[in-house]
Amino acid sequence: EIVFIAKESDPNEPRVAGSPETVKKIRSFGFEVVVEAGAGLSSRIPDAEYEKAGARIGTAKDAKSADVVLKVRRPTVAEIKGYKAGALVIAIMDPHGNEEAIAGMAKAGLTAFAMELMPRITRAQSMDVLSSQANLAGYQAVIDAAHEYDRALPMMMTAAGTVPAAKVFVMGAGVAGLQAIATARRLGAMVSATDVRPAAKEQVASLGAKFIAVEDEEFKAAETAGGYAKEMSKEYQAKQAALVAEHIAKQDIVITTALIPGRPAPRLVTREMLKSMKPGSVVIDLAVERGGNVEGAEAGTVAEVEGVKVVGHLNVPGRIAASASLLYAKNLVTFLETLVSKEEKRLALNMEDELVKATALSHGGTVVHPAFDGAKE
Ligand code: NAD
Repeated sequence: EIVFIAKESDPNEPRVAGSPETVKKIRSFGFEVVVEAGAGLSSRIPDAEYEKAGARIGTAKDAKSADVVLKVRRPTVAEIKGYKAGALVIAIMDPHGNEEAIAGMAKAGLTAFAMELMPRITRAQSMDVLSSQANLAGYQAVIDAAHEYDRALPMMMTAAGTVPAAKVFVMGAGVAGLQAIATARRLGAMVSATDVRPAAKEQVASLGAKFIAVEDEEFKAAETAGGYAKEMSKEYQAKQAALVAEHIAKQDIVITTALIPGRPAPRLVTREMLKSMKPGSVVIDLAVERGGNVEGAEAGTVAEVEGVKVVGHLNVPGRIAASASLLYAKNLVTFLETLVSKEEKRLALNMEDELVKATALSHGGTVVHPAFDGAKE
């Protein structure tokens, strides 16, 4: 079988879906690997590194003979035309609201897998792209904040006087938020954090940060069976806003990461709150692509709102592409391994496998994922 590692066509996507390590791994399945020339350059992987690992360097035309295409982003209409019917395409597919594109992949006879739909079960932990990428985004958010902040983060006692430690407040203590807390602590900031899930309280405390939250009856029931947050009631949101308003006024850096599956990101920071912050404070909105947690945050810009720098970088994992690609590539190859018969050295797709069921969007010419099959509704 032939596996094709594509060069991303989106100029805003510096990540790549394969690494020298994963090329070796795929070769060990008895498969051939073709890497599109230059695919890894933005992630600091030269073609020669892939070649050394056993890949052949090819062009976009080589996609046509591939049995498996590995990508970061969903293929464009033009790219789909370059794939052969029956090929597997594995990527971050961003399926919500993109049903037409999914139908297009089905029509082209592709078996498309959306990595972000991987269930969060123990078996699939090493294939969890949301976690691997959110972890790096949480780290990068602190680096970006430090870059925008015109002061030092750690307390520094010098002969010339003392620089106070920065106060960092992390809103949403999931994968990204917990890494942001850990990173800010390593840089010497005074860190506090909030979340609506009670399980977050202990995790925040174990990282040495102060937990701030409205801990009422609703809070005690705010975690879904899947471990995600629920959308909170208007009453809870009002109580939370009052508590946050008071706390935020004293912060130098705020990093927001709050998401609710299938819903727009909750609005947590208002313009009034920004106004209460000191001039030159920095707010990083990691949820900006999902509607934003911060009023006035704009996707792709650093905006000045009420004297506060409001940062809305897009594709934050892409800002640390070399690391993000290594982890993403590893997630992909671990999943691919579950689709392979090692004895027979070929693909052996089991549509009943729970990982396949959860992630397969299209197969055999139709959309197979119930959540994205508009026709069956
Ligand atoms: P996420 O990206 O969906 O959301 C980020 C955080 O925002 C979450 O902690 C959420 O509770 C929080 N949030 C939502 N609404 C909020 C509000 N109004 N105010 C404050 N915070 C709010 O979450 P995630 O990072 O994907 O993690 C979700 C859960 O899944 C966590 O418990 C995490 O530990 C767990 N997880 C489990 C596995 C696994 O078992 N394999 C893997 C990854 C994550």
